[in-house]
Amino acid sequence: MSIFRKIEESQTLLINNQSKNLESLQKKIFKFGFGQSPFLPPVQVMEALKANVHRKEYSSVQGDPELRQLIADFHFQVNGLKVAAGNVMIAPGSKILIYSILLSFKEADVFIPAPAWVSYAPQAKLAGHNIIPIETSFAKRWRVTPESMEHAYAKKEHEVSIMILNYPGNPDGLTYTKAEVMQIAKKARELNILVISDEIYGLLTHNQEHHSFANFYPEKTITTTGLSKWCGAGGWRLGVALLYEGIEDEFKKALIGIASETYSCAATPIQMAAKVAYGNVEKAQEFAKRQCHILEEVGNYCYTELVQSDIKLYPPEGGFYLFPDFSNYVERLGKLGINTSNELCNKILSETGVALLPGSAFGMEENHLTVRLSYVDFEDPLQKKDFNLERDCPKIIEGIQALKNWLALL
Ligand code: PLP
Repeated sequence: MSIFRKIEESQTLLINNQSKNLESLQKKIFKFGFGQSPFLPPVQVMEALKANVHRKEYSSVQGDPELRQLIADFHFQVNGLKVAAGNVMIAPGSKILIYSILLSFKEADVFIPAPAWVSYAPQAKLAGHNIIPIETSFAKRWRVTPESMEHAYAKKEHEVSIMILNYPGNPDGLTYTKAEVMQIAKKARELNILVISDEIYGLLTHNQEHHSFANFYPEKTITTTGLSKWCGAGGWRLGVALLYEGIEDEFKKALIGIASETYSCAATPIQMAAKVAYGNVEKAQEFAKRQCHILEEVGNYCYTELVQSDIKLYPPEGGFYLFPDFSNYVERLGKLGINTSNELCNKILSETGVALLPGSAFGMEENHLTVRLSYVDFEDPLQKKDFNLERDCPKIIEGIQALKNWLALL
């Protein structure tokens, strides 16, 4: 028995290292594994960061009060959310906020859709909780439904229920309609589930129609978001949690306690730059919209090409991911000894240079041949006058064609 916790390096970070290793061996790699925004933050936001390097002091644990107010105003205007500045928490990334929320409970059942973002389950496990997957399927567009919630809820073991929802979704690139959000909210209320609504890709909904969960279940939803995706600033580490009005004192105290005993606060210069990012709603929306036009075009190109190769797939609706399902190739791949999504990704990487992440990293059964494809292997085209897929995304085109050619030979 090992004396250490069994926790592996996040698969998304791992694939990046593997790709880098192969690249150092002069192999051409199409980096469709790592989901990092290709866009630079807006110039004025970068200038604000430069101008604030001298801000070396710690901020309050919850974050700079003026920034919290700006964030509250921002999400009121953008999403219609009514959150008091006192219920805004700022941290070095939303990832640590999700973990802090989970850690605030002694024991809980954590309902996690499959597929869902790689880190939810390891975080719930580290926090000592019981993980209950919510099953989805290609036919149901990988969506959680009131029925699948009921089904998972029947396996409940603890008093506290937490569900993590994420849309637009990583790894599926899909979102929920207003009607779907309302149905899920209704069921969550009925079952008294605390919902963590991870809306980090909300502003990158391609048609700008993002419906925040907390609008329909305000009494028990915590929304998480931040600068990592829409502002292209993942490495800056600025995440946000919007707590609900009337949050239990003990819960909020636990959250702030965990924050103060671990990360202390988000970096102050980054918070100052975030004031500029959040301070002008129109500019932010305009910036997000420009990215969406490009992401939609690139994502649709990948989608259109891959469905021609008999891959099961939906057109992208937000963020920068696709979740291709290779079920139609099960037999052909099986003959080559490829029976798991991990084996599939390894084979594709070694034979085509296309780096993908296996569906199993997102909670899918090992033998379910799904992968996550992030279509962001291109340089920021926003610096140019216009966007041209062939000119600006050669690696996307080459990588997708390499994948198609590989499939054609199976
Ligand atoms: N949630 C999802 C679905 C993500 O894809 C990511 C980043 O990849 C995060 C949360 C973490 O974001 P942050 O950089 O705010 O920690």
